[in-house]
Amino acid sequence: MSTPRRTRRSKLWEILQSRVPGTTLHEGPIFQRDVLQFRSFVARELRRGRAVLVGDAAHTVPPTGAKGMNLAIADVLLLEGALRAFLLEDDARLLDGYEEAALHRIWKAQNFSWWMTSMLHQTPDASDFDRMRQLGELRSVTDSRAGRTYLAEAYTGWPVELPR
Ligand SMILES: Cc1cc2nc3c(=O)[nH]c(=O)nc-3n(C[C@H](O)[C@H](O)[C@H](O)COP(=O)(O)OP(=O)(O)OC[C@H]3O[C@@H](n4cnc5c(N)ncnc54)[C@H](O)[C@@H]3O)c2cc1C
Repeated sequence: MSTPRRTRRSKLWEILQSRVPGTTLHEGPIFQRDVLQFRSFVARELRRGRAVLVGDAAHTVPPTGAKGMNLAIADVLLLEGALRAFLLEDDARLLDGYEEAALHRIWKAQNFSWWMTSMLHQTPDASDFDRMRQLGELRSVTDSRAGRTYLAEAYTGWPVELPR
């Protein structure tokens, strides 16, 4: 029973080491393994009265687009401006517009994360047609300057435009 465990362990270190050439990793015991359950989710409402949702409480995305923390920060930037205007200037317009402004970015990020996941990951039940179509999709992006530009723009993130 112990042999397959050891083989699996050294395989993990082998793969990790291959990703960081020029650095020698110090191996240690792997004491926990988890499969993280990620899902795409957007709350139906981001604000009700005095309660406002930001970050993972408001939305979650699959990790392929690396958008979760970025979205959380963008929400907070929007809300910070809205709260300032509300509390210091008695102006509720930004607070009233928070949900719409936040959702604009959230749905773009949801789409990007879904697209990256479906383009880069294979499902166990994928047919040969599915796999070749997926490869065609990836090549359509990488062979095209416009495709590469969109991917780079969406991956690095869109500027946070604060409403005035
Ligand atoms: C493995 C992994 C990799 C990721 N990689 C990326 C990435 O590369 N790029 C990216 O943009 N995003 C990434 N994310 C997503 C990102 O971490 C989250 O989207 C982001 O942290 C959400 O921020 P948040 O403040 O909304 O929630 P959290 O960071 O989860 O903060 C919520 C906080 O509330 C605390 N809390 C919970 N309940 C209570 C309570 N009852 N009372 C008091 N405190 C409480 C928690 O302890 C926590 O500190 C990754 C997530 C995971 C799990």
